Amino acid sequence: MRGVQSFYRDFYGHEFFRHFRRPPDLDNKKFRIQFALKNSKNLLLHVLRNSGHHPCFTHVYDHGSWDNLKRGNSRRMVLDRAFFDFDVSNTQVKKIKNLLLSLRRHGPVHERDQQEELKEKIRELIINDNIAKKAIDEAKDFSMNFKELFGKEPILFFSGCKGAHAYTFFRASGFKNLNRAGAWFAENIKKSKSYECLDLAVNLDALARLSRTPYSKHQLTGLTVVPFSVEDSYDEIMEKSINPQVEAFSRMDFTSNFHEHLKRIDLVESYNAKVEKTRENKEMATSQTYNSGLVNDHRTFFRSIMGTPEREYPEKEYVMYRCPLKSHEDRKPSFMVHKNGYQCYGCQKKGNYWQFLKDYYGWRDEDVKSRLKNFNGC
Ligand SMILES: [Zn+2]
Repeated sequence: MRGVQSFYRDFYGHEFFRHFRRPPDLDNKKFRIQFALKNSKNLLLHVLRNSGHHPCFTHVYDHGSWDNLKRGNSRRMVLDRAFFDFDVSNTQVKKIKNLLLSLRRHGPVHERDQQEELKEKIRELIINDNIAKKAIDEAKDFSMNFKELFGKEPILFFSGCKGAHAYTFFRASGFKNLNRAGAWFAENIKKSKSYECLDLAVNLDALARLSRTPYSKHQLTGLTVVPFSVEDSYDEIMEKSINPQVEAFSRMDFTSNFHEHLKRIDLVESYNAKVEKTRENKEMATSQTYNSGLVNDHRTFFRSIMGTPEREYPEKEYVMYRCPLKSHEDRKPSFMVHKNGYQCYGCQKKGNYWQFLKDYYGWRDEDVKSRLKNFNGC
């Protein structure tokens, strides 16, 4: 495909500090997952090497320097864009995907014919049975609404499987908490427009997010991540993805004034966070006077409610779950439990067992108190 490198240069910048990641579905623990990138040429080489074999992800945000790429200090990142993800859940695809993954675990060429057959089945579901249509239509609708609100439409991509992506660009801006402001916007537009496919988890941890690299091939379908416009029909989008050609791209065409909106939310949300913090501290003090010493080890307590953790790190003294809180659709385990409490890296909620019982079951302080009356501790 001609022109991919110059597309990357315009899309990601002349020089940048991002990670390229190819999360494996392999058993091989030695498989290197992450590489540092500094320009479009590096990126193109990684994509060429992995496209169609492994997922190709690139950091949404430029970290600004090598040093910061390691440390991930969000105040030093170049905050010049926002990313939105639309995805359909489909049980048929899920079933085939699981079969395919069990083969891929031994490598992308293990039982090659069988793998190809399964890939073909997923492709058929997407291309002929229009499985991705709902996500694509929602992304189109989002794009039109977005343009009305913020002056310019976002650039849309077909994900190569059953989803769509949208990016908007803006003047690099400072935010106290871009995660919170972005999540607030995403939550509200999802609710008001009933976007079933809009995945909120993406905006809850926007700063840490990597997104599927444009013009890479999806590892489960062989279909290419390509841009599309609201005028393109479903079939036209599929055609582009099967036979991709790099389209002219200018960031200016997709540069909106979304940052001004985010900044206003950011101000309000920082204030709310302060108020919330004071409330939490008060409640924490209350719960401690009620029950000091009732839960000696939160890991044991959470095991009794949520079962075996998704990940355990004996030497690091904490365990990870998928976040069970209602407001957070957590795809990876972001919910950490240590001896003295929990903290979610996705939705930022934290506290001790008392706070958890309130958040999880919707109980009030009195409810927790009465329910724990006969609890002997752990
Ligand atoms: Zn969470």
